[in-house]
Amino acid sequence: MLADTSAGVHGALAQVAEKVEGGGRISTDEARLLWEHASDEELQRLAGMVRARYHHPNRATYMVMRIINYTNVCVAQCDYCAFYVLPNQDGGYVLTREDVFAKIDDLLRLGGDLVGFNGGFNPRLPLHFYADLFAAVRERYGDAVEFYALTIAEFMFLADRAGMSYEQAAARLRDAGVHWITGGGSEILTEDFRKRHAKFKYTVAQYFQAQKAVVDAGMRTTATMVIGFDETTDERLEHLERTRAFQDECRAAGQDGLFSFLCWTYKPYGTALGGREITPREYWRHIALSRIYLDNVKHVRTSVLTLNEDAFRALEFGADDFDLPLEDEVTQKAGATIDLDLERLLQVPRAMGYQVEYRHAERPPALTPA
Ligand code: SF4
Repeated sequence: MLADTSAGVHGALAQVAEKVEGGGRISTDEARLLWEHASDEELQRLAGMVRARYHHPNRATYMVMRIINYTNVCVAQCDYCAFYVLPNQDGGYVLTREDVFAKIDDLLRLGGDLVGFNGGFNPRLPLHFYADLFAAVRERYGDAVEFYALTIAEFMFLADRAGMSYEQAAARLRDAGVHWITGGGSEILTEDFRKRHAKFKYTVAQYFQAQKAVVDAGMRTTATMVIGFDETTDERLEHLERTRAFQDECRAAGQDGLFSFLCWTYKPYGTALGGREITPREYWRHIALSRIYLDNVKHVRTSVLTLNEDAFRALEFGADDFDLPLEDEVTQKAGATIDLDLERLLQVPRAMGYQVEYRHAERPPALTPA
């Protein structure tokens, strides 16, 4: 990860830089070269160029959001998770509809308008439980609140339990008023990583099949990633490679595909896997590499949830957007701390010279009334 000035590497880096400067796409091998040998300054410069193709250099956008963890009961048993309890274990819960409404009302009071529903794979809650909940949220709040209904990971579990194809399950949720199913729960998308840490969850092929069904149904989705477990550089690159290829596939079909790419850092506290947190610098470099590599994704988002104020520095490494979260029990249980002084947080990017603007979640074009 240190800058290397030897002649061969220097020449190869210059060629990659020239490619990015000319608007070209870098290969996975070239991404590896950048990761291993480019200086922080060079990564910033190249990521800034790709960012500028989509966004004003001195502008960043944000949302105030709350993740509502409707149940902590889960059978997936991912070893990096400190949140779940197994069915019949003490401490399991399912939020009532009133609990959910109270949390959304609270979010609105604090000036936010985005909810992320996220919870465990609870075998007692079938797909229609969620469809009814989302329909009730849409009916009560209309477009005053947007919500990320589920992650792709939960969506796959529910579709399988209902004996439905991904296409059928996506249509059922869309018809209940769902606009977004995010790419959450992806962590690292390699088959080997999934076997090591989340063997009951899904295969990578299933993940993208489900995500395509969501896109084909006219809903919006996003790409996510979590770094800092025990994944190798090659695994990180494979994740980015598959993400870019999926977006190419969507674009070739005339679809918007992935709205954004968001990367969190792994929080190891209280998990079976344990480990240590990566440094902010490693995260910033990864954001820069992702921005350069994912040339077909408009937004790269930085994670205030897991990095607090350190997340804002990623704006100088190619990120353009972020959430200010009010709550997320999953990461808080693993050590995340949430600062609710939103004005104080926003002063950080402003002091860095960014004009920060609130961004409302968009309705998917396919579901926008004429
Ligand atoms: S990360 Fe999600 S799917 Fe995995 S054990 Fe935790 S709650 Fe369950």
